[in-house]
Amino acid sequence: MEKINIAVDGFSSCGKSTIAKGLAKKLGYTYIDSGAMYRAVALFAYRNGWITDTDINETELQKHISDIEISFKTNSEGQQETYLNGENVEKEIRSLEIGNGASRVSTLGFVRKELVRQQQAIGEKKGVVMDGRDIGTVVFPDAELKIFLTASPEVRAQRRFNELQAKGIPVSFEDTLANVRERDERDTTRMESPLRKADDAIELDNSHITIDEQLQWALDLMHNA
Ligand code: C5P
Repeated sequence: MEKINIAVDGFSSCGKSTIAKGLAKKLGYTYIDSGAMYRAVALFAYRNGWITDTDINETELQKHISDIEISFKTNSEGQQETYLNGENVEKEIRSLEIGNGASRVSTLGFVRKELVRQQQAIGEKKGVVMDGRDIGTVVFPDAELKIFLTASPEVRAQRRFNELQAKGIPVSFEDTLANVRERDERDTTRMESPLRKADDAIELDNSHITIDEQLQWALDLMHNA
């Protein structure tokens, strides 16, 4: 069967990476976490002091945007990790603070332009499952299969809370829920490529189904794509 590109979009913490990784593994495709790329840009900006609680120094960030090289490597446990200019930043980019910074830098047109360019280059040879917010609408508008996931904010916050706890990152459920709501609001209302379902995407509300059921649903779609 010829390789295709698969776009998985949806709100924060609604299991996009779980379904995308599962599909990539089953199909022997490359999984790309586009959110990790926005997180890496946010980390780069924080480290250089270009992002504070209230401001982003857009001039400096724009001047240096092409100095940011993001790559992915699989570790010895088979997990994909994110590298920023050759440094493994996987753990650091997963904090709530960096998640919030990512959602702020992702509103900037020049950041999106650069990352979309890198993402489209990765997808050129097909065989990619990419998850994010604008994959089906902007990055791969011609993707042969587009999935749009949803789940209630409470269910998503609980999932993210469990994930952060498992990683030993200290956080309260209330802060996690507030973070989910804040990012939903910013992702859906921003001017640049707001989160929306592509017209030809197939939607799944996974609030009350298991990970295995969700993967099987996607594989069935794949066989009919
Ligand atoms: O998916 P994740 O939560 O790691 O993404 C971090 C942030 O990056 C999101 O809140 C969203 O604002 C932004 N993002 C985006 N477009 C993508 C992927 C992520 O704007 N394709």
